[in-house]
Amino acid sequence: MKALIALDAQGLSALVAECGQPSYRVKQLSDYIAKGVPIAQMSVLPKSMRDRLIAEGYRTLSATIAKKRQSATDGTAKYLFALDGGDLVEGVLMKYSYGNTVCVSTQVGCAMGCKFCASTLEGKVRDLTADEMLSQVIAADADEGGVNHVVMMGSGEPLDNYAESVKFIDRLCESGISHRHISLSTCGLCERIDELSHKPNAPVLTISLHAPTDELRRRIMPIAAKYSVCEVVAAAKRYFERTSRRVIFEYSLIAGFNDTQECARKLAALVKGFPCHINLIRLNPVAERGLDGSDKRTVEAFARTLTALGTSNSLRRTLGADIDGACGQLRRKYISEQR
Ligand code: SAH
Repeated sequence: MKALIALDAQGLSALVAECGQPSYRVKQLSDYIAKGVPIAQMSVLPKSMRDRLIAEGYRTLSATIAKKRQSATDGTAKYLFALDGGDLVEGVLMKYSYGNTVCVSTQVGCAMGCKFCASTLEGKVRDLTADEMLSQVIAADADEGGVNHVVMMGSGEPLDNYAESVKFIDRLCESGISHRHISLSTCGLCERIDELSHKPNAPVLTISLHAPTDELRRRIMPIAAKYSVCEVVAAAKRYFERTSRRVIFEYSLIAGFNDTQECARKLAALVKGFPCHINLIRLNPVAERGLDGSDKRTVEAFARTLTALGTSNSLRRTLGADIDGACGQLRRKYISEQR
């Protein structure tokens, strides 16, 4: 299969010319692609052209919805996208008062090996291309509408797939989504954070910290052997200085591991004086991992201590908990159902 979305302006022009069509068809075609319209339904284009594209093996997007589950409680939609070659990745659409946010995957699987994450259980399978990332956004928007925010927080480590992730951000901006409404989440690849900070349309940076000390972080995140928490915070500070954009740290609370009052105090001390934000989330338990989320009282006490110590924080709602909201869970379930 060949996807129209993978073609740049030059490629589209060449294709339109090959079909013997005038150049104004390029704009018509690209408007359809941006909306994810299937070729057969591109009714403004002559039937002969549509038939030809289909006969040549084209389709509009390079990621298509293979399965969808929707939360009965909050409308969160979890998608399983099929890519060329049969690989599957997950995406999520979350509904907020300000519009819909799509969470996209940047790799099939992940090489980072975080101990609490379902996406990395079998390592990295392959990188996604920018058009495969963009296809997830367009497909979800075509399905539910109202998409105005994008987070790169699905499976994969975007900074381990740097060139395509950056190309994706550029294409999203061209499509009219502001870089202020695009977040990139990383486990903290410091050199790449620096590289990203020099981009004119740098996204909001979210760093998965999950522990306030090297000793603890190394037990759950292999990347912590390469970069210390101090180095990660220093990279975040440089990002803030260069982009003026407040950095967010993700902190998943794992029962009896990183949720003590002492951890809260150490976390507050680590970021003291740095105008960042801490996003707290109860760990979404992954059966294969044997780790549990902290209970509500512990989470609230942790948040209170951060607030008392002057550290901006919020507790992220766990959306779509009834539909396997956590990373990698839907894909794993789907694959094991197929086996
Ligand atoms: N590789 C990137 C982005 C993908 S993970 C990163 O590390 O940030 C997206 C976020 O989900 C990260 O903050 C990750 O640590 C978190 N996460 C993964 N598994 C989780 C789980 N079971 N419960 C809660 N958060 C989880």
